[in-house]
Amino acid sequence: MSEQSLEACANSLAELSRRKAIVMVLTGAGISAESGIPTYRGRGGLWGRQHMRAMVKAEALRRLPRQAWEVLQQMREAIGASHPNPAHYALAELEELLRPGVRLIVVTQNIDGLHQAAGSRNVIELHGNITRFHCMVCGCQQDWLPLQLAVLPPRCACGGVIRPDVVLFGEPLPGTAWQEAQAIAQRAEGIIVIGTSLEVEPAASLPYEALRHGALAIEVNLDPTAFGNRANYQFRGFAGQVLPLLVQRLAHALGRATRRSSVPKA
Ligand code: NAD
Repeated sequence: MSEQSLEACANSLAELSRRKAIVMVLTGAGISAESGIPTYRGRGGLWGRQHMRAMVKAEALRRLPRQAWEVLQQMREAIGASHPNPAHYALAELEELLRPGVRLIVVTQNIDGLHQAAGSRNVIELHGNITRFHCMVCGCQQDWLPLQLAVLPPRCACGGVIRPDVVLFGEPLPGTAWQEAQAIAQRAEGIIVIGTSLEVEPAASLPYEALRHGALAIEVNLDPTAFGNRANYQFRGFAGQVLPLLVQRLAHALGRATRRSSVPKA
């Protein structure tokens, strides 16, 4: 990551903030890796574990609810113990810095709620949230379930299996969230893609949609991706290091002070 490209990228964002524009940020599991939540793919990802792959499917939850819940519990416990990291805070600050010209909207594939916890105000959860639940039989909503569960799967008073409000492999995305995200991708003048392998459809199509409509494209990822090669700016590194630096340069370009002390030491 060169100093010049950080500065050029910050200047491009500053340029956008001088007119009315929408900037879409698409995030994936990589932005939460530094919060201690394992990713699926990439370094240290869980996807190599065959059991895990088989169990995060809608069909597994129906046929083998205990085994599927054992895997969901691992994810719940990792998320339950996590806190936002400097990348989440930097995005919340970016939203403030770009206002009032730019409306920054975070479209996340994550199910951990860490963007909201860091203060991001416009967040669309494409794959739901693992801290909300409903019964698979009567459909009743449950806002809370103890983090430690003595018996798996948890059951509703009606006897049905309770499940988290997340999109498992093989399930469609929640209609409203998906339609909103598509509309934003078509109108966005900037697209920032962070910590996603872009291997899960249909979310993976969103940045290409924005590119087709002429958006300025920025990617932050540890590993190379096909989208990164087409982006105007590609930063290969830890989101928790790159984003605070980018926000710092943007604040400088806009003549503003950074609000947080999350900028890592060089
Ligand atoms: P993925 O696991 O397929 O890919 C993660 C990407 O992030 C990889 O390209 C990896 O190189 C990169 N990465 C890892 N650490 C990084 C870091 N510190 N900084 C920058 N980049 C980093 O993730 P995905 O594309 O989001 O798809 C996985 C699916 O699994 C999503 O649908 C998501 O719902 C779900 N998931 C969510 C969480 C979560 O909520 N935190 C965690 C795991 C999986």
